This record gives sequence, structure tokens and C-alpha cells, in this order.
Amino acid sequence: MKAFDHKPVKLLPAFIACKCPRCRVGNIFRHGPYALKAGKGLYEKCSHCNFIYEKEPGYFYGAMYVSFGLAVGELITIAVTISILTGSVDPWYYVIPMLTIVIVLAPLNYRYSKVILMYFLTPGTRYLPEMSKSISNVQTYK
Ligand SMILES: [Zn+2]
Repeated sequence: MKAFDHKPVKLLPAFIACKCPRCRVGNIFRHGPYALKAGKGLYEKCSHCNFIYEKEPGYFYGAMYVSFGLAVGELITIAVTISILTGSVDPWYYVIPMLTIVIVLAPLNYRYSKVILMYFLTPGTRYLPEMSKSISNVQTYK
């Protein structure tokens, strides 16, 4: 058996699929972003490497700031796009599309604000390629 017989999981596909920041294999969320099911949408820990997602109580409050930044970025993008496309100064040309798009994207903002917090804004949380090995490839020490 080679020392490194598996391909490391790439950042972008793992980020988009909301995989564990440490192994990039286990899921962070139980359901899709638009699943309207009751209960917690987030697993407590990774099913693959047992990484605990909520590092401390209140850890995900930081995701509110990330979510705010995402929403502001979306609003500015929509407003500039509408301004370029229509050239109108009528506020209703802006308010209705902006509200609609922010409400439609809210589940994605909720989801990716937590993923961004875990992937990029938490010191000490990094990808460990050896953790992404499948269980059958992991050597057992006797
Ligand atoms: Zn993991």
C-alpha cells in the first residue's frame, strides 16, 4: 500500500457541496438548501472524520456577519445591474427585484455563510488530506 494512495479533494467542489472543512468528505447539512423540514439542518459533527462543526457555543453567530455581507453584495449587484439595464430612477424598479432575489437567496446565504465561516474565517480549521481517505484505506494500528 502506497503512503498516499488517494487524490486530495479539491477546495471548490467541496465548498460548493458544503462538505466538512477538514476532510471534505462528510456533509455539513442534513438537507438541501430549500428543504422545508423541521429540526436542525446542521450535523453536530462530520460523519467521516468526527470534526465538530460548532467549535464553541455561539460560534455560528459569526456567520450572521458573513450572511450580511453576502446579502449586501447581492443587493448592490442587483441594483447596479438594474441601473445599467433600465437606467430608471423609479424606486419600484429596484425594490421589488431586490426583495425578491434576497428572499429567494436567503437559504443559500444561511448555508454558505456558515461554510465560509468554517472554511476561511476560523483559524486552526484546515483541510487535512489524510482525513479524506475512505474508511477502508485507513490503516489500523495494532
Ligand atoms: Zn470531516
